[in-house]
Amino acid sequence: MGAAGRIHNFGAGPAVLPLEVVTEVAESLPNLNGSGFGVMEVSHRSPAFQEVIDSAMDRMRRILSIPDEYEVLFLQGGASTQFYMTALNLMSQGGMADFLVTGIWAKKALAESNKIGDGNAAWDGSENGFKSVPNDDEYSIREDAEYLHYTSNNTLLGTQFHHIPDSGGKPRVVDASSDICGAPLDVSEHALIYAGAQKNLGPSGVTVVILSPWAASRRKGGLPTMMDYHTHISKGSMFNTPNTYGIFVLDKVLSWVERNGGLEGAIQRNVAKSKLLYGVLDGSEFWRPHAEEGSRSMMNITWRLTDESLEPTFLAEAAENGMGGLKGHRSVGGIRASLYNGCPVESVEALASFMEGFESRHG
Ligand SMILES: *Cc1c(COP(=O)(O)O)cnc(C)c1O
Repeated sequence: MGAAGRIHNFGAGPAVLPLEVVTEVAESLPNLNGSGFGVMEVSHRSPAFQEVIDSAMDRMRRILSIPDEYEVLFLQGGASTQFYMTALNLMSQGGMADFLVTGIWAKKALAESNKIGDGNAAWDGSENGFKSVPNDDEYSIREDAEYLHYTSNNTLLGTQFHHIPDSGGKPRVVDASSDICGAPLDVSEHALIYAGAQKNLGPSGVTVVILSPWAASRRKGGLPTMMDYHTHISKGSMFNTPNTYGIFVLDKVLSWVERNGGLEGAIQRNVAKSKLLYGVLDGSEFWRPHAEEGSRSMMNITWRLTDESLEPTFLAEAAENGMGGLKGHRSVGGIRASLYNGCPVESVEALASFMEGFESRHG
């Protein structure tokens, strides 16, 4: 057992973590920091765990330069719960919210908002096959919208915002599930940020939510207790039993990020990894990258083979060569390589060189 036989993992999530982190976690399973309690066996009310969650919060604040007056929560239920919870907490009764529909996740967020109020697609990229994200002059925000919601990185499609979208002066809410702590993010320009941990930050089962004072002040009476941000703000994310194990792993991942140059270091590695792969894709007509150039994601890279009938062979040969998780999402098809923070450059080099070999054999 152990690490031998680990593949180059390009899966979209839950995704590869740095091996160093996985090893640290394994070592803490029987005994957490000398407390005598195993990581999965320790009370969330214990000093040993309080230390873990405090550390994770502090690291999150440092890495993303989160302003002091913002709240940081570690919740459960995934980003999918936040589709509803953001609308429930932030929209007034019968209020309006506008959405940039750049992919399937944004569409789902919009649908949930319509259970609370009047959600509207200010922009919808479905006709263009979601190949791009909009420029600021391609949409306008309704006068009475209470906020703008967007998805910073479109995990399934392989597109990403490389600017903070104009919100017509309204607060911004962002689903940053697939690029948080791996791409630039100015927290102070956002009212609420949410992200499931399983792409860039750790295992599934933890959702990071960052709230501005405005977002925290949108207090409504009578919400279901667990759906009310105030429940979690007032109890330091421990109103009920949090995902203690997940928060522990997240702290270890964030510690790894800090040891490796913080957010800036992560961005540089992700830029370099994605350049390597786009270089191969742009190098010949054999490959057809999905995203338009200005909207290309550096986290999830999606493409087709010009001869689509070769795609199953590509995936099979990749697997034989120790590369997994490359099958594109069923809604897009083709190939997708996810190059999150935990994906080492060696994996991307291996993929790039496999692709060049594949092309010379089959091109
Ligand atoms: C993965 C993902 C989701 C869904 O996350 P769950 O934790 O499965 O609910 C939502 N939005 C984006 C951008 C994602 O990448």
